[in-house]
Amino acid sequence: MSGVGKGTASASIAKILQSKGFRVSAMKIDPYINVDAGTMNPVEHGEVFVTDDGDETDQDIGTYERFLEIDINSPNYMTTGRVYQTVIAKERNLEYGGKCVEVVPHIPEEVIRRIRKAAKASRAEIMLIEVGGTVGEYQNALFLEAGRMMHLKNPHDVLFVLVSYLPVPSKVGEMKTKPTQNAAMQLNSVGIQPDIILGRAEVPLDDPRKRKIAQFCNVDFKDVISAPDADSVYEVPINLEKEGISRQILKKFGLRARSKDMKDWRRMVRTIHDSEKPVRIAVIGKYFSTGDFTLSDAYISVIEAIKHASWFHHRKPELHWLNSEQYEREPSKLKELSLYDGVVIPGGFGTRGIEGKIAAIKYVREKKIPYLGLCYGMQLAVIEFARHVTRLRSANTTEVQPKTSHPVIHVMPDQAGLIRAMKYGGTMRLGAYPCALAPKTVSREAYGKRLVSERHRHRYEFNNAYREKFSKAGLVIAGTSPDGKLVEIIELKNHPFFVATQFHPEFKSRPLHPHPLFREFIKAAKKRS
Ligand code: GLN
Repeated sequence: MSGVGKGTASASIAKILQSKGFRVSAMKIDPYINVDAGTMNPVEHGEVFVTDDGDETDQDIGTYERFLEIDINSPNYMTTGRVYQTVIAKERNLEYGGKCVEVVPHIPEEVIRRIRKAAKASRAEIMLIEVGGTVGEYQNALFLEAGRMMHLKNPHDVLFVLVSYLPVPSKVGEMKTKPTQNAAMQLNSVGIQPDIILGRAEVPLDDPRKRKIAQFCNVDFKDVISAPDADSVYEVPINLEKEGISRQILKKFGLRARSKDMKDWRRMVRTIHDSEKPVRIAVIGKYFSTGDFTLSDAYISVIEAIKHASWFHHRKPELHWLNSEQYEREPSKLKELSLYDGVVIPGGFGTRGIEGKIAAIKYVREKKIPYLGLCYGMQLAVIEFARHVTRLRSANTTEVQPKTSHPVIHVMPDQAGLIRAMKYGGTMRLGAYPCALAPKTVSREAYGKRLVSERHRHRYEFNNAYREKFSKAGLVIAGTSPDGKLVEIIELKNHPFFVATQFHPEFKSRPLHPHPLFREFIKAAKKRS
């Protein structure tokens, strides 16, 4: 089923193999027609993760980056849309030499070509390939077929790991292996025998359960790996390694471990457990709820970045989700913000909840509560400053009010035409761009260098017509594009911490290397706590 933790499982296995001295990378296959994740609603699909080279990918790519501490680029993300797009383009270019182009074998062949290309581009000796969806469903069948074909050709180079969920029905009180048996059978029916079965469950798998799975799914007892729920995803590599997963995988590949080290990682996990004193952070957004469920996946990189920075300061991150729309209905509710040690407003789009966010920014600016604004969170901070400090009451972004008399945030010139032509997919300002930091700013101090590279995903920008006016009124332009044209970071003086960025620093935070801006933000929050 979805949400079982295939992303964490893939990233964890990759991490363990990396710690054995191999160059490892990971890739994600999404069985959607969408060419990228950029056009998908984050509530349904989770966060859109942006790579250095400007791809809008599934959030799992972010998990791989955080676990492997490497940058993962566009070739490592594949969707059904991309595969068909290439095959159809090749057909139009006569590259199939007059043959009838068919779903099989041409689609799986293109899948394999992309896998090889990604492995080469990442210089990987071992590539983890996560196939989205579940076995037996219609949409990912051709990706499994590609796996089968690769295995047939190079039986010693391809391994299959089945990640399956073992329910413990509360009325029965016993862990059930039947869904896993069925999943293995489904895989068998498409010509794939799993080599390893990773049993996800609330609790560890006991030996009788493992024996049953081994017996009915045609695998060795040692190849049934228990993967119980963990307090933190970062524990999972350690848990899987306790089960001997790398020994089994390396044996099957005929490889020998070259080194043995997860020391820093283990230390980090110990810190997670030892950090007891909380730091209370409020995240104000709108992508939180679907029906009765709250989905924080839409902001996963922001959450992880807050966690990394909190653990760095030996604090237990306590995240609170606040819906900005409530401040529009009931402004007196803003007072609740005083209860928190820091407030984050992450990226977003459109008009819903915007006035509530602006009201919240005014509150944290005036009450001196540490504030970190990310992308829209920066643009809205500029609007708030314009309205309440420089008294341009009608200030707005043209995203919300195209005809505002004070467009302090306006559409980037090259974006206007794209919007008119409804060319939305993959056309924002995307990926890594350099940013030059101004001396004597909080940001410059945090990064400890003048030039940094950060990832972007936006269509609107700070309107330079207002730069002088705002600077005179106390807004600090702390970072710009190296040519000075695009404002990338704003700050306020005489405030414990008020930093907002046009880029998304959260994409580059790693558990062992928290992002400098998040690190300083949490430091200020810790002080307040
Ligand atoms: N909606 C804003 C823009 O497109 C901000 C985007 C974001 O927060 N990622 O510029």
